[in-house]
Amino acid sequence: MRPLSEKIAGVVESATIAISNKAKKMQREGIDVISMSIGEPDFDTPRHIKEACIDAINRGETHYAPSNGIPELTSAISEKITNENHVPCTPQQVIVTCGAKDAIYEAMEAVLNPGDEIIILTPAWVSYEPCVQIAGGNVVKHAINPKTFQLDDSLLERVNAKTKMIVVNSPSNPTGAVFDTKSMKLVADLCTDYDIYAMSDEIYEKMIYGKEHISLASIGDMAHRTITINGFSKAYAMTGWRLGYAVAPLEIIREMSKVQQHSVSQATTFAMWGGVAALKGDQTCVEEMRKEFDRRRRYIISELNLMGYETAPADGAFYAFVRVAGDDMEVATRWLEKGHVAATPGSAFYAPGWIRLSYATSMEKLKEAMIRIRMVG
Ligand code: PMP
Repeated sequence: MRPLSEKIAGVVESATIAISNKAKKMQREGIDVISMSIGEPDFDTPRHIKEACIDAINRGETHYAPSNGIPELTSAISEKITNENHVPCTPQQVIVTCGAKDAIYEAMEAVLNPGDEIIILTPAWVSYEPCVQIAGGNVVKHAINPKTFQLDDSLLERVNAKTKMIVVNSPSNPTGAVFDTKSMKLVADLCTDYDIYAMSDEIYEKMIYGKEHISLASIGDMAHRTITINGFSKAYAMTGWRLGYAVAPLEIIREMSKVQQHSVSQATTFAMWGGVAALKGDQTCVEEMRKEFDRRRRYIISELNLMGYETAPADGAFYAFVRVAGDDMEVATRWLEKGHVAATPGSAFYAPGWIRLSYATSMEKLKEAMIRIRMVG
């Protein structure tokens, strides 16, 4: 047989796979494994959002829709981005996608040429690098300061004539860190000075605890060169709906739209009606979930610190990022095999020596997990 795609062969499977497969196998064997490796809210989608989707199905919204999204949703998103994120945005600058991940993939395809360099700030979420690779670009990794979890001038050393884009993710998965104005301005200045695009993944913007969320595109002229990524998965507990979006200059949206038209066509029509209800409806549900995450965050961080673990700032998202002694794969394996707690080794996020614990699970389970981790060390 002739060889398959070299490009895809070069994409590695996530380092989380081995541990999560093991955890699933143990669960199938009847072992009570507490999963702290999960990247989704444990809450159900709020009722009014589900009802809006069911109503849409019942009135026949089951056909193709405009590829970039139903006008009701693109308008709701443009209003949200303009008013909340302080980024002037028309509905034409919005593309609704099958989850934020699809928006990231389409944006990479739209912007990159072979050999273009993309700066990824590490620790980083697992899918940026594969999306860049599939689009033919080259990833250049830059480790953020492991004490402050902010950016400094050393970022400049990564920039050269091939640098095309920088990816920013605040609040961050996996660290929970939130970039301050200084870090954001540093990125903005660099993009302006060297004519670089930015991708700002703001999917965790609503999960923020005592810090201010800054949208990169709201700084200086950044709206002209930034693709803002967001979605419904985290803020509205809608991971399975596969609904996300990107907001960008019209020229970029036009190119992303071509990728979308010839691949997934559009996000699911009735799911988009759920999205309209999410953005237009009462936002109390978002605040209630945020408060509950905050309660769990305070608990888990204080427990881990009491056990002597150093933790990243945990100002956003729903992850505790924990420094461990020794090999993170070994520690995660020990926690799983001996303590029956599934966690994600930092190596999956280019951060060996760290472990990510998701606190998007009930307080009861968190308490039990802390007892188990304390026991196995
Ligand atoms: N960006 C980050 C940082 C994420 O953690 C995730 C989900 N784990 C996504 C994007 C993708 O979200 P979605 O479910 O909307 O595709």
